[in-house]
Amino acid sequence: MKKAYLTIDLEEWYHLDYLKDYEVDKHKAKTVPEIFTFLDMLDDLGIKATFFVVGEIAEEYADIIREIRDRGHEIGCHGLDHDLLYNKTDEEFRDQIIKAKNILDRIVGEDTVKGYRASCFTMNRSKLNLLKECGYEYDSSYISFAEHPLYEDLDLSGYVKKEDLIYQNDDFLEFEVPTYQIGKYNIPISGGGYLRLFPYPVIKQLIKNHFKKQSSFVFYLHPFELTDIPLPLSSNIPRKDKFRATVGRKGNLKKLNKLLRFLKNEGVNFKPLGAEL
Ligand SMILES: [Zn+2]
Repeated sequence: MKKAYLTIDLEEWYHLDYLKDYEVDKHKAKTVPEIFTFLDMLDDLGIKATFFVVGEIAEEYADIIREIRDRGHEIGCHGLDHDLLYNKTDEEFRDQIIKAKNILDRIVGEDTVKGYRASCFTMNRSKLNLLKECGYEYDSSYISFAEHPLYEDLDLSGYVKKEDLIYQNDDFLEFEVPTYQIGKYNIPISGGGYLRLFPYPVIKQLIKNHFKKQSSFVFYLHPFELTDIPLPLSSNIPRKDKFRATVGRKGNLKKLNKLLRFLKNEGVNFKPLGAEL
């Protein structure tokens, strides 16, 4: 059976790594409270997803996070802050994942949070081992995309492939975010800028091709991509970074709706990542 997992990294627009060096007005626009249109869409489609929440904004959005849970979605952790993992020592990382899990569990219920996704997929093996030690049951930070300067190539020795995109070590699971190979390049078509950039017929065809070879697919989305409210991107931000942050936002939700509807009609089964535990 074909499966797809819809994952949303619940963070704000200013968490984008390529905006972090610029002065931005964090309070001028909030995209997380706009998530309801997307949640209604998922209800219409009958799709349950996984939301990886950044711990430091969780208290501010506690009501929204509880509503997401009440609509039947899974809550996971997207770190305490959104700093890249290789800027943290293992000790800092351990403290932060425990703290973030506590914050989120306090909001959604004790021992509810099982899954983790690293900011910008910057997981490495020693931190992956720490996740397992600290009570997490799965991670979804593995992406095979060597061309991107930020993404770590995660060492999964000792893991066995359970099925397409899922690797297992004891009871702990690692979910791979798929890329699409064009020539010698692996393109992450399942989220972020590429998913917004490619028009519907192209993305549909690429995903159809993916399913000819593999049985599952992982989407990754962010709240700022699910609304087209203006982002207060100041004039000192270079054009290329503005482009990355804004391309395809308008109409993205509609495109996504069409795509998800198409996949459902093709018999693709959507579930939260945690349902595989
Ligand atoms: Zn993120």
